[in-house]
Amino acid sequence: MPFTTLRLSDRVSLIQETGVANFLRCNIWHVRGRDCDLVIDTGMGLSPLKDWVRRESDRPLKAICTHCHFDHMGSLHEFDCRLAHPAEAHIFAQPDPAAVVYSGDWPRIEVVSPDQHPEFKPESYRITPAPLTGYLDEGDVVDLGDCAFQVLHVPGHSPGSIALWDQKARMVFTGDAVYDGDLLDSLYHSEPETYRLTLERLRALDADMFHGGHEPSFGKARLSRIVDQYLAGGQVMGNVMDWYRDLRQTRPDIYAPQDWGRVPRG
Ligand SMILES: [Zn+2]
Repeated sequence: MPFTTLRLSDRVSLIQETGVANFLRCNIWHVRGRDCDLVIDTGMGLSPLKDWVRRESDRPLKAICTHCHFDHMGSLHEFDCRLAHPAEAHIFAQPDPAAVVYSGDWPRIEVVSPDQHPEFKPESYRITPAPLTGYLDEGDVVDLGDCAFQVLHVPGHSPGSIALWDQKARMVFTGDAVYDGDLLDSLYHSEPETYRLTLERLRALDADMFHGGHEPSFGKARLSRIVDQYLAGGQVMGNVMDWYRDLRQTRPDIYAPQDWGRVPRG
């Protein structure tokens, strides 16, 4: 199977791309609505994602990328409706390896299982261009008919990072603005000072369910601890190779899917 789907609620499923190392595997969210569904982030693009989503839904699909990094935008090109922040539109249209952060040490760490994807070659891996068909910016609303998401511009990790906030359900999809792992603020277009403001803002949000771009979902108390640790200089990724070596020690089976079950509130 190219993906696994974990149903978290009637509304939300988590799709995981199999064969991608779980420390880097992006969370692909399928959000079901009355009039249309959302696919939030799209993985590395190793297998057709739209076909997989279509097995569960025949409603119109809107694909939203929280930002333009290779682990989030690989399958965006498959969708007819492709939405993200205008600050990164040029990268979606022309996803050069360096622009999507598949450069430096990243191609040197084993992010794709050679057993499951023998055809994958790090040196020739390229993201298919996915020009945006529409923009999402601060204050925009994505309406699914029976629920709606407010778009938050949350830069820092990248200049066009966005989050999607369902105010009524008190639930936020945060992309890489925050997740329960080491945060990345030293990419070529990261801005640590801006990142701090974004994290303060997310902490002040009236929400108690956070679905990040990586790692398991979490509640408000955990968010507060992540933000505190980051602001104190911790919970941040330094050297990529060191980080990778540490992870290989702590996660022996790096390609295993993560069965995270239900998300605690609070
Ligand atoms: Zn990212």
